[in-house]
Amino acid sequence: MIELTAGQTRAAPARAPEPLARVQDFLNSVHVERGTDELADPAAATRFLAGEMGPDTRRRLDDGWVISKSDVDRLLGVRAALRALIRVGTGETERAEAARTLSETAQSVPVALRVDPDGRLQVVPAGTDCDWFIGQLMTSIQQAQGAGTWERLKICRADACAWVFYDTSRNHSATWCAMGVCGNRQKVTRHRERRRQSRSDEPLTGQD
Ligand SMILES: [Zn+2]
Repeated sequence: MIELTAGQTRAAPARAPEPLARVQDFLNSVHVERGTDELADPAAATRFLAGEMGPDTRRRLDDGWVISKSDVDRLLGVRAALRALIRVGTGETERAEAARTLSETAQSVPVALRVDPDGRLQVVPAGTDCDWFIGQLMTSIQQAQGAGTWERLKICRADACAWVFYDTSRNHSATWCAMGVCGNRQKVTRHRERRRQSRSDEPLTGQD
């Protein structure tokens, strides 16, 4: 296994443009490699949302939103559904299940239409507390889908990583969160497999 050196941090993978970046951060509240979850319980979720989900979310928490166990369950459900939908290799049944969860969630949060000074319509969250927060995630995703950026949000193909990254490659073909870390790790694994099969000594620097 390749160890992360000082120069290789988790901050390296590209972030999506706002407001999609907030959704990306939300989806990365589970850290597969470390085996930790920022939404493990109401206290942890409160810390995460207050610290990472922007000033509007923080203000709502300051104004009295107390995150409950059922809020946490809703957040986990939305996160799991969204992660399943953007993962390459999600099976058909799981994908349909995720879409259904997302659809039910979308119907449960109130949204409103707003018109900006140029006459452009915007869908905005209109609920309170957890409804507002999930509504904000949903409307951000809707904006990103309209802008064509949603398709670039991907889950790293290395199962041990599964980090959500923003694909900045020109042809939208990236599969690793950071080639230097996960791509190499995968390369080493494949190299070892090939070596076991052929007993030859291929150099590690070869192109895959
Ligand atoms: Zn990765």
